[in-house]
Amino acid sequence: MLSCTPIPAFDDNYIWLLQREGDPRVAVVDPGDEAPVIAHLEAEGLALEAILVTHKHWDHVGGIEGLKARWPEALVQGPAGEPIRGLERLLAGGDEVLLHDGETRFQVLDVPGHTEGHIAYHGESLLFCGDTLFAGGCGRVFSGTFEQLYHSLRKLAALPAHTLVYCAHEYTLDNLGFAQWVEPDNEALKARLIATRQLRERDAPTVPSAMVLETLTNPFLRCDEPGVRAAAERWAGHALEPGFEVFRALRLWKDKDYD
Ligand code: ZN
Ligand code: FE
Repeated sequence: MLSCTPIPAFDDNYIWLLQREGDPRVAVVDPGDEAPVIAHLEAEGLALEAILVTHKHWDHVGGIEGLKARWPEALVQGPAGEPIRGLERLLAGGDEVLLHDGETRFQVLDVPGHTEGHIAYHGESLLFCGDTLFAGGCGRVFSGTFEQLYHSLRKLAALPAHTLVYCAHEYTLDNLGFAQWVEPDNEALKARLIATRQLRERDAPTVPSAMVLETLTNPFLRCDEPGVRAAAERWAGHALEPGFEVFRALRLWKDKDYD
């Protein structure tokens, strides 16, 4: 049985720890900082066999060097399309990542947009999507394009509904506030907001979420919904084509007026 544990880092990052029961070899996803990972693994008597990276930003790669110094046998894997120091295996869409002697398998997905070469890992009904899809929201467009991010989110939304979404930040409550600006009458969103507030009140993670919940409540995955389109048109002040134009308006709206 594969388990996935968050190791908190910085203010709101999650470094995901992947382990199999009875196997001391573990992997981490997006180690922005080595210190909390080393402390956790040493306390539990675990050894690092792999580092998986989604994109080049410092809060996702800053711990690579320190972890490699502590566990030289750990294989550092990440996107071929981004300049990241210390990568030993370059990955692109369609590649497969094997952990735990092949017992754990992930497919690599190309999901550019937040950055130009961002990748995600999907397998075992889990998705590690870095800063592309967030619980209740999505990443900003930095070195990629709006078109890329739109198509990447569509690709992720097409994964099975039960897929668990492990994003790299605890942004959910903030994201759902914007979602309510867009869809104040969405009942699933209201319920999610209540549940999310309760988790945050006791400092519990709101990640992972399920893809089905994202498709019901995350406005960035709902650009074809008439109500979402109407809200985006009110903000933009003119008519928008369903789909990409609505997505772009939502992303700009959140960047300019909400964050
Ligand atoms: Zn990032
Ligand atoms: Fe980040």
